Amino acid sequence: MKILVPVKRVIDYNVKVRVKPDNSGVELANVKMAMNPFDEIAVEQALRIKEASQAEEVIAISIGPQESQDTIRTALAMGADRGILVKTEHDIEPLAVAKILKSIVEKETPELVILGKQAIDDDCNQTGQMLSAFLNWPQTTFVSNLELKDKNLLSVREVDGGLEHMECSLPAIVTVDLRLNEPRYASLPNIMKAKRKPLEEISPSDLGVDTNKRLEVIKVEDPPSREAGMILGSVDELVDKLKNEAKVI
Ligand code: AMP
Repeated sequence: MKILVPVKRVIDYNVKVRVKPDNSGVELANVKMAMNPFDEIAVEQALRIKEASQAEEVIAISIGPQESQDTIRTALAMGADRGILVKTEHDIEPLAVAKILKSIVEKETPELVILGKQAIDDDCNQTGQMLSAFLNWPQTTFVSNLELKDKNLLSVREVDGGLEHMECSLPAIVTVDLRLNEPRYASLPNIMKAKRKPLEEISPSDLGVDTNKRLEVIKVEDPPSREAGMILGSVDELVDKLKNEAKVI
């Protein structure tokens, strides 16, 4: 069985994101980029399934500019077998990503696609769900525990106030949550080895996918800055303010 893991290149989660002065987006120039953290967890899970001899090949795929190659190389250094870069020069929306992934799934015939639950740059949380609809495959989202038993996928999802246990057959789509596992670090010898692993490069037009935008970002803004607090002299004064100024009690 093959496992496909889509990995997105995003701003490193340690970087403080700055909004562009014209509010058209966020600053990307000279900003450190890295693999989307949820996708690292997805790669780790695919590798664990392979190491348990339940899969033969893990394929990492990224859709984005040439630099997304680095993200694929990171997945290869963690242990993925080969990579596919679908090169696009402009930002691409989840709908187009899902269409590209569908087309690659049809070509590669994996039985499992493991994605992050969301990309931390656009916070869309859409791609896995759309891919599941396009392929008409079952999906289990926000997974915090995953087991594969006789071609059956047993997953646990964290829901409000409890855990939901799900079972579905393969082929299937899984999107992963933070608590599923702790991704491994790539060792130096593995980083060197990853340079020699196969990495195919294609374009969306090779797959016949239209990547034109359907959405327009009107404005990106910083969250409102926190207002200054005040020190009150007594509980009575606090109660008075809550009642008459904030009107919350
Ligand atoms: P989103 O729906 O944009 O929040 O992304 C959810 C997941 O879809 C991510 O965690 C990735 O696994 C995958 N994904 C989204 N965009 C891309 C991309 N450009 N390249 C590779 N994978 C992607």
